[in-house]
Amino acid sequence: MALVSVLAPLSLHRLGAANAASHTEPALRTLPPVYRLELAAVPSADVWSVEKASDFEVYSNGLRIENQYAVSHRPRAYVAFSRDNPERPSGEKRTDPVGIVYHTTESLQAPFESTQNNVLKRVGESLLDYVRRRRCYNFLIDRFGRVFRIVNETDAADHAGHSVWADDRHFYVNLNDSFIGISFEAQTAAGKTNTSVGAAQVHAAGMLTEMLRSRYKIPAQNCVTHAQVSVNPSNMQIGYHVDWASSFPFERLGLPDNYATPSPAVFLFGFGFDTSFEERAGVRLAAGALAADRRLNEQAKTAHLSLAAYRKALHTRYLKILASLRT
Ligand SMILES: [Zn+2]
Repeated sequence: MALVSVLAPLSLHRLGAANAASHTEPALRTLPPVYRLELAAVPSADVWSVEKASDFEVYSNGLRIENQYAVSHRPRAYVAFSRDNPERPSGEKRTDPVGIVYHTTESLQAPFESTQNNVLKRVGESLLDYVRRRRCYNFLIDRFGRVFRIVNETDAADHAGHSVWADDRHFYVNLNDSFIGISFEAQTAAGKTNTSVGAAQVHAAGMLTEMLRSRYKIPAQNCVTHAQVSVNPSNMQIGYHVDWASSFPFERLGLPDNYATPSPAVFLFGFGFDTSFEERAGVRLAAGALAADRRLNEQAKTAHLSLAAYRKALHTRYLKILASLRT
């Protein structure tokens, strides 16, 4: 791979099928049924700051954060909407992050070999400069497993655009302000369930996750991948971005495997998915979409509405929430 191509302008999140096909009913009937998994309550460990210098921090679990690229952005501020009253577009105003969204940079990768050391370092520095200028994430984990703070956690990073997630009590729309963005310098292959991300990166992500969960009391169910939360309001489909679609190593980060969690965008707002979704998303993410689709059908029956009419009502609910965020 020529150096010039390695250092070419970076294209983030290109795996998503922008402007995917128009609404069609889910076509993933060949997959086996998936039932709602009750996620184990995984407590966060107590992690504290051991040393803080001008350009790095060290924590009690071995985590080291590099601060040379840290930058401010707009202060974090968002609304946690109550699941008990989803029609009311108001809720609790908050400033502390409530979750984490994991990304990959989808940037070009030099071979991970000692002979490529200088190339790996230069590519990493180029990437850090790029994401810093664009305020893309709160943290970036480079190929060597070094953790760089980009946008300070007090501020929102521009990492999740149109996105939806929910925990037991609240739901969140457009997660830049409510969720911390952590990106791996990596490429994930669409539809694959195994990861090629380096062990040092996974280890670092585990320590970073543990520290953030300890500091902000983030529940395990709110530690999710970009592919799980990304939506496209222009065609009301999920899976606009599919980084970490089915290959995220939840268990190795001390988290429950929550790919099977029903997609909140589907059962709360009636988002759909088309025939290309399984191929791009892989079976683990598709399981969550299918589980949500079954829940959507049950909800429509309970409401004595056709699926189309029920979906339309949920779309209206979503648009009302979106409008409230703009005011
Ligand atoms: Zn992403």
